[in-house]
Amino acid sequence: MKLQRPKLTWWERTYFPAILQGLAITFRHIPRIKKRVTLEYPEVRWELPKKYRGAPVLLTGLDGHEKCTSCKLCQFICPPRAINIVAGETDLAKEKFPREFTIDMGLCIFCGYCQEVCPVEAIWLKDEYELADYDRTRLIYTKEELLARGRKPPYLPGKEKPLTEGDKP
Ligand code: SF4
Ligand code: SF4
Repeated sequence: MKLQRPKLTWWERTYFPAILQGLAITFRHIPRIKKRVTLEYPEVRWELPKKYRGAPVLLTGLDGHEKCTSCKLCQFICPPRAINIVAGETDLAKEKFPREFTIDMGLCIFCGYCQEVCPVEAIWLKDEYELADYDRTRLIYTKEELLARGRKPPYLPGKEKPLTEGDKP
């Protein structure tokens, strides 16, 4: 399809009308800017939406054991292949557990597929977003780190063991 260019007058070709129109819109909005849109971070924090997807963490079941059954669905579905699991056997009813479970947060794109695909709600994208580090190797979270982060509030009510006194957050 060929588009016809509109014919501009000499005055329009100076671009002044468009600039003046733009300035008029800007000035029209100035009296409406009452609420500040900046925060004095880190003293003042964002109130995150309930469904905010931050860093993935591992959850501990009400029996005190990690919920993960090492099915590896999350590892297969993860687009940047950030998850790495080494399965082990356990005497518990679930039979398998993750001997090792790492997530490379330098690769994670916060897509939430791991949470969606997990059949036992063992992995959850919590509200953590302060993850920057100068060393990329420290962005590879171990199972212990992921479980510790998962035991901090907010919790999935009635579905996981909350942090109690003596637990390391
Ligand atoms: S949120 Fe997405 S990218 Fe991050 S670990 Fe889960 S599946 Fe992988
Ligand atoms: S976190 Fe869920 S999906 Fe991933 S291995 Fe464990 S049980 Fe399977």
